[in-house]
Amino acid sequence: MSGPYDLLVRSRRIYSSGGWFDGYVAVRDGRIAALVAAGPAPASHDVIDVGDRHVIPGLVDTHVHLRDPGFTHKEDFETGTRAAAAGGVTTVFDMPNVTPPTNTVERFRAHVENAAAKSLVDFGHNASGTIPEEIRGLAEAGATSFKVFMMTDIGRDYPHMPGTAVSDHATLLRICEEVAATGLTLYIHPHDQALYELYTQRAWQEWGRDFRSYARAWRSGDGIILDSGIATMLEMQRATGVRLHLLHMSTIHGFEMVRAAKEAGRAVTIELNPFSLFVTNTWDAIEQLGPYCLGMWVPEAHAAAAWEALVDGSADVIATDHSPHTKEEKEVGWTDMYAAPGGSPMIQHYLALLLDAVNAKRLTLERVIQMCAANPARLTGLYPRKGVIAPGADADLVVLDMDRDWVVRAADSYYKCGWTPLEGRRLRGAPVLTVRRGAVIARDGEVLADPGSGRFVRPLRVAPQP
Ligand SMILES: [Zn+2]
Repeated sequence: MSGPYDLLVRSRRIYSSGGWFDGYVAVRDGRIAALVAAGPAPASHDVIDVGDRHVIPGLVDTHVHLRDPGFTHKEDFETGTRAAAAGGVTTVFDMPNVTPPTNTVERFRAHVENAAAKSLVDFGHNASGTIPEEIRGLAEAGATSFKVFMMTDIGRDYPHMPGTAVSDHATLLRICEEVAATGLTLYIHPHDQALYELYTQRAWQEWGRDFRSYARAWRSGDGIILDSGIATMLEMQRATGVRLHLLHMSTIHGFEMVRAAKEAGRAVTIELNPFSLFVTNTWDAIEQLGPYCLGMWVPEAHAAAAWEALVDGSADVIATDHSPHTKEEKEVGWTDMYAAPGGSPMIQHYLALLLDAVNAKRLTLERVIQMCAANPARLTGLYPRKGVIAPGADADLVVLDMDRDWVVRAADSYYKCGWTPLEGRRLRGAPVLTVRRGAVIARDGEVLADPGSGRFVRPLRVAPQP
C-alpha cells in the first residue's frame, strides 16, 4: 500500500464479497484501490464518513429510453442521466428507438458521440439489431448488446417504430445467428404482432379505444400476445445458441417457460421492471392513473408471479425501462390510448421503491444489489469493473439512508417531462449520495456532475451469464 488515496468512504456497512464490511473504500484514480478494515484512517485527500449507512455498488440500468436524438422534447441524454445520478445509477444503457435508429455502424458512432457530450454517468448503447448484415460491425464498434422489438405500433408510430421492429421469423432467426457469432446478448421485446392486431381489432369493437380497452387488449387470451413471443424466441435460442435476454417479463406462463429453459442450462436471462412490481400491478392503478401508468397492465396474479421470480432468484435483472413522454402526449390516452405513447419515467425513483420494499420485508437488500448492480454488470460484460465493490473496480458507490421517510414529487425530479406515476407516494429509504469513478455526482438529490463527464463503456469481454 502506498498512500495517500484520493478519497476514503468510511462506513460500518459496505457491501463487498457477499457480505457487509466495516471499514473504508479507498479510491485512487477513479478506481477502488483497496478495502481497508476499520481502524486508523489511511492517508487520503478526502474522507466521507457515512457512519452506519449502507454503501452499495452504483446501479447499472440496462434498459433506458433517453429519447436522444429525435425525441428530445421528452428527455435527452443530459436530463435523463441527471435523474439517474440523483437516483443512485452510475451506468446506463440506452435503447435504439431514436431517430435515426442505431442499426448501422455509422449511426451507432454518431449516437455514442452525441451521448458522450451530454452524459453525467457512464454509458453504453444497446444497438438496434434489425439488419443482420450490420450486426458484426456494430459489435466491433462497441455495442453492448442488440435490441429487437417484435412489436410495431398500431395507430401511432412511437415508441415502437417500424425501423426497430422485426416480426418475421426468418429475419429473427438470422439476427439470432449473427448475434450468436458476436458472443454478445440479444435483448428482445417479446410480442406476437399478428395476435396483437387481432386482439386490438376486437378490443376496438367491444370496448372502444380508451385506456381501459388498451390495457385489456394487451392481456387478452391470458397474456398470449407476450407468451407467444417468448415461446418463439426460446425456440430461436435453442436453434442458434444465442444469449437471449427477454425484456419486461410479466406473465405466469412466461416465467414457467424461462425456468424450464434455465434448468436445461440454456443461455437465457430475464428482466423485471419497477412498473410491473409497483405501478401497473392493480386494476385500481389503471383506473386512477390511466395513460400515465400504461404501458402494460399486469394483472394481480401475474404481478405476484413477477415478485416470486424476483425473490426466488429466477429473474436476473431489474431495469427501469425509463420511458418518458410529455403530459400532452399522455393526455390523449384517456380517450384514445392507442394514439398515446406507452411508458413512464422511472430512473430516479426505482432504487427508492426497492428500498421501501426492503423495509417492508418483501425482499432483501442483498437481492436488490444483485438484481440492480452485479447481474446487470455481468449481462453487459462489464463485471467486475462495474456492479461490485472490490479492489480494481470503478469506484461507483451509492450511500443509502434506509430510514428516510419522504414523498415522491415530480417537482423534485430531473425528468424533462415533469411528471411521475409515483406522485405523492410515501417511501421509506432513499439513496443520499452517489459516487461515480471516485467523484461525488449527487448528494441529497442535488446533482453535481457536469454533462459530458460520463464515459462510454464497452464490454470487457464476451458477456458471462448472470
Ligand atoms: Zn423499453
